[in-house]
Amino acid sequence: MRLRRERRGFDALSFLGSRLAARRMPHADPAPVQSVSEIENAPDFFKKRQRLAALVAEFGYDASKVALSPQTKSFDYLGQSFTSEGQSFPDGRIEIYYDPNMSDARLGCCLAHELQHVRYFFVRDVYRGEKSDGPLHRRFAKYAPELLASQRGVSNYSNEHWDAWKGDAPPKLLSLELEEGESEPINETIAEVAKALYNWGPDVRINALWKELHDAINEEHAALRSA
Ligand SMILES: [Zn+2]
Repeated sequence: MRLRRERRGFDALSFLGSRLAARRMPHADPAPVQSVSEIENAPDFFKKRQRLAALVAEFGYDASKVALSPQTKSFDYLGQSFTSEGQSFPDGRIEIYYDPNMSDARLGCCLAHELQHVRYFFVRDVYRGEKSDGPLHRRFAKYAPELLASQRGVSNYSNEHWDAWKGDAPPKLLSLELEEGESEPINETIAEVAKALYNWGPDVRINALWKELHDAINEEHAALRSA
């Protein structure tokens, strides 16, 4: 399967994990042919790049790590074509894929989602480098696989990842989900909490356990960064 083969590549690492609110486009017309430099030089691209930079500053993130890409990222999955809105990488880089129809609000949601992945990756790295009785292991022990699986996701998009999970057992918090089960239900659910909080504010009605876990990841991230 194409999916399985591609999982080994770098792109494939973030295959499912990075598409935010992927849009199904089974009957999409081919886009008019426009070169990368034509897109990059268009006023709208310039405007969106400035807007993105302003949002990155609002989030307090390093602007040099976030790029608006003129490329379109599409892939086929289960016989349908998806377009990716953004992608985050374990080294902290984020790419947002230019879409002339993306509103400022959606741009902010996309960034909030991808930035949460970056924080999760950071905490995950430290966790995986710890002994099994290290402080992060103790802090996160209560979020057992069965408990998280019983909650499922917080949005349609995160539930797609729960549905796509192929592991023999439920996914483990801070594990390499994509390698183990071909989707990232936990990582994506936490990113969707961040998106919901950004979109609706702190009083958003959302699953309490996932909200608590999202907050715990961010607390540990902040503590590790300032250590
Ligand atoms: Zn994602």
